[in-house]
Amino acid sequence: MLIDHLSQQLQQRRALGLERVRRIAEGPCRPDLPVSWPGTNADAATDASQPMLAFCSNDYLGLAAHPAVVEALAEGARRWGAGSGASHLVCGHGRAHERLEQALAGWLAPLWPEGARVLGFGTGYLANLALMTALGDARTTLFTDRLNHASLIDGAQLARAEVRRYPHNRVDRLESMLLECATPLKLIVTDGVFSMDGDLAPLDRLLALAERHDAWLVVDDAHGLGVLGEAGRGSLAHFGLRGRRLILMGTLGKAFGVAGAFVMADPVIVEWLLQTARPGIYTTAAPPALAEATLASLEIIRGPEGDARRAALQARIRQLREGLAALLAAHPGCGWSLPESATAIQPLLIGDNHRAAALAERLHQAGLWVPAIRPPTVPEGTARLRITLSAAHRPEEVARLLAVLGQALQDPAGGPR
Ligand SMILES: *Cc1c(COP(=O)(O)O)cnc(C)c1O
Repeated sequence: MLIDHLSQQLQQRRALGLERVRRIAEGPCRPDLPVSWPGTNADAATDASQPMLAFCSNDYLGLAAHPAVVEALAEGARRWGAGSGASHLVCGHGRAHERLEQALAGWLAPLWPEGARVLGFGTGYLANLALMTALGDARTTLFTDRLNHASLIDGAQLARAEVRRYPHNRVDRLESMLLECATPLKLIVTDGVFSMDGDLAPLDRLLALAERHDAWLVVDDAHGLGVLGEAGRGSLAHFGLRGRRLILMGTLGKAFGVAGAFVMADPVIVEWLLQTARPGIYTTAAPPALAEATLASLEIIRGPEGDARRAALQARIRQLREGLAALLAAHPGCGWSLPESATAIQPLLIGDNHRAAALAERLHQAGLWVPAIRPPTVPEGTARLRITLSAAHRPEEVARLLAVLGQALQDPAGGPR
């Protein structure tokens, strides 16, 4: 009964072009990545790996396989062992975790004029569940952008708070909702950089709104931290913002190239999270060696090598956007479009699920790994290639992607229509 039911549902997803397949990376996260492509049946799982050129990771600064970060991880494991042994509140909170929280707080201190504190979490998903559930009590309204990350949406659903979703980046609509709001506590919740579109939230206007309406601003900066702003301090620094009403969630598995997440905010907020946030309490602390690797990564990010890597990333972004703009201008009516994005996330909108999947498949045939992102991850009718760039990409590699996309536009059999 259950199996029949699920088989039918799976069949339906397949028919809608929504089936997902996991490719197997056979090496460290780098632009040139050997990949195995198992079929959906077990017999095909012996496919030999092929070298692929990948435009799909969130390793924006190329730190996931950086020798200094890898060495810190190995050295950390030799010093602290493999596992932490327990949750943070039992006996899993080690000196390495403590040092990491303090180093992150020192790096980001300029964003809080009156002082702030950092609390680590196992993943960004957990940190967002923690924030939404621990702060979103029955006296609170959560105002969330419609395109926020799934973890914020799930967290808001779990919270006891009232939830109001506002249209993407529509500050005017948000303000009307704030004016109507009757609860004593208000949290505006937004991605700093939107994960499937690469555009920025208008954080300057959102913080001004928060200050005007006695609300707090929660910023999930998974894709901005390390990449944007002075010393890589992220989206808030990009806008030159600072303020007591900021609550920042940063992840450590993207530009940092490791794993984990943290929240930084007023010390009272952080103490409340430490005392009450279940996704922080009822889970084993991350291996201390990960904290050592993240410390090494932070040293790179905040220094001159970080500046050089951010500049290299910006150059690749410019190259890709200029190349795509030229291609689209040469093929008016091709149905593709390239929305505004100044970040490492570059969405090439295709629209139809099957066409997006077919284009990704065509790129794969040419040795390029660019994921097609389809509903429900993005709204219906906005299937896209999500091209992500890294400081580790070379100009020739971006040029190769542009050349293959150009061929797809010219060849009607494999092209957009
Ligand atoms: C990736 C991501 C998360 C989740 O972070 P993990 O550490 O991968 O769990 C949260 N928010 C946004 C916007 C993300 O892109």
